[in-house]
Amino acid sequence: MDGSKIVAMDDAGAVDQEIDGGEFACPAFIDSHVHFLLGGRALAHAHLAGVSSREEFERVIRAKHEALPDNVWLEASGWDQGNWQKNSKPNASMHTQDHALKNSGHGMPDQTWLATCGNRPAIAWRMDQHVCVVNRAALNIIAQRHDLSRDPVGGTIARDAAGNPTGLLLEQAAWTLAIPCVPEPNSQALRAMAHAAARHLHAHGIATVGSMEYARDIIATLSPLRHELNIRILATILDRQWPIDWSLGECVAADDALRIIGFKSFIDGTLGSRTARMLEPYCDAPESLGMFVELAESGKLSDWLREGLSRGWSMSMHAIGDAALRAALNAADAAEKSGVRARESLRIEHGQTAHPIDIARCEDRWLSMQPLHKYFDAGPALPRLGAARMDRFFCFKQFHEAGARLAFGSDWPIVEPDCLQAMQTAIAGATAAGAVTEHRSSLDAEIALQAFTNQAAKCLRVGDRCGTLKVGLAADIVSLDRDPLTNDWSNHKPNIRFTCVAGERIHAPG
Ligand SMILES: [Zn+2]
Repeated sequence: MDGSKIVAMDDAGAVDQEIDGGEFACPAFIDSHVHFLLGGRALAHAHLAGVSSREEFERVIRAKHEALPDNVWLEASGWDQGNWQKNSKPNASMHTQDHALKNSGHGMPDQTWLATCGNRPAIAWRMDQHVCVVNRAALNIIAQRHDLSRDPVGGTIARDAAGNPTGLLLEQAAWTLAIPCVPEPNSQALRAMAHAAARHLHAHGIATVGSMEYARDIIATLSPLRHELNIRILATILDRQWPIDWSLGECVAADDALRIIGFKSFIDGTLGSRTARMLEPYCDAPESLGMFVELAESGKLSDWLREGLSRGWSMSMHAIGDAALRAALNAADAAEKSGVRARESLRIEHGQTAHPIDIARCEDRWLSMQPLHKYFDAGPALPRLGAARMDRFFCFKQFHEAGARLAFGSDWPIVEPDCLQAMQTAIAGATAAGAVTEHRSSLDAEIALQAFTNQAAKCLRVGDRCGTLKVGLAADIVSLDRDPLTNDWSNHKPNIRFTCVAGERIHAPG
């Protein structure tokens, strides 16, 4: 290595390589889908991941509240109502309420769960970041800016029997009403969060990320820090006011450390919140198909896609439900009919459920998938989809066999950017429930590793810079204690020995 690039190798082109006794060098992992700054910010939140009861939820909130200075918001994230619902038996009245996310039944938290914060405004995000609960103090602040008697387009304000907001806000109600009211950390705090995010990713063997970011954050925080973070960031712009200001894609200069590659749009929500748009109703909410949101709801998705592609951007579409995937493919077909090339420049994000007809339509298209979402969602997905539809859930292998191009990521901070645990799920089918689900959708180790290295690099348009151990490419390396290609993934996963970025050891555990 000459510092930043690989200058010589005994086995050029390898995906992984044994360097000495039991140590394996792979290209450093590439996480195709993170929220880098949000991740850095979430590292400072109260952590509600894995919390399995209201008491535990309140205990975490109280501890954070007591540790915070006065006059700042309490921010928390990671809760999942499935974790406490499985501990309480559903009853008939709950079931009849269940279909409507508009009411506060079925175990979703409300403002009283945050009562310990008193007059301190508090917001706690569900693990998918599509739903949040705020306390009374925060609701009062939001009500000063917005009329809470009506739901915003594409969002829901949950209400009690008397019609008053419970504090639970879904989709656009969370994003457009609550988020703008939460004070931004100052620039010094944001810089510290960006550094923390980079260190966290290095610890997981990651040297390159595809990151979903707002233009203002790229300009104010990421661009000034680009040569300090030791991480290559390929940013996708989240700003999505229609009509799109395409010049945002050029809001900062591009170099090897930071480059804006495209724009993102949301087609639907999530399975956990039953807002993912399905072809057939939810089994546990028989009158609901979920929802289309934003440009998919307003009918502007194809225009957005065609315009972005024709300008040369890599266009990313969030599609979790099988109907959302179909809408993404229909928009892609429409764009291609109008003459723009969509094959290499279109990323379907998530693809968590897919009808077989649509899987076949994915040939040559990028599927940017997050195996750890399967790990955590397999349990909750079963009542949503029903056993008969589970063969549409996380079809890694079926996509691969249909000729789709797979790039893997985490969606951090939704889940940890743990590429090895993600590979274990993709290869061995492991899920949080412990059971091996849908083994027929599992991948060979080599395909899974490529989805986190050279394929991810191509998806993010940096295949000529990183993602392969090859002379002339970046000396970004992760050293593992086992060969990932021969490892018995059903029993254990390799451990990271160290992470090397541009030829320098950045992270060594312990
Ligand atoms: Zn995401």
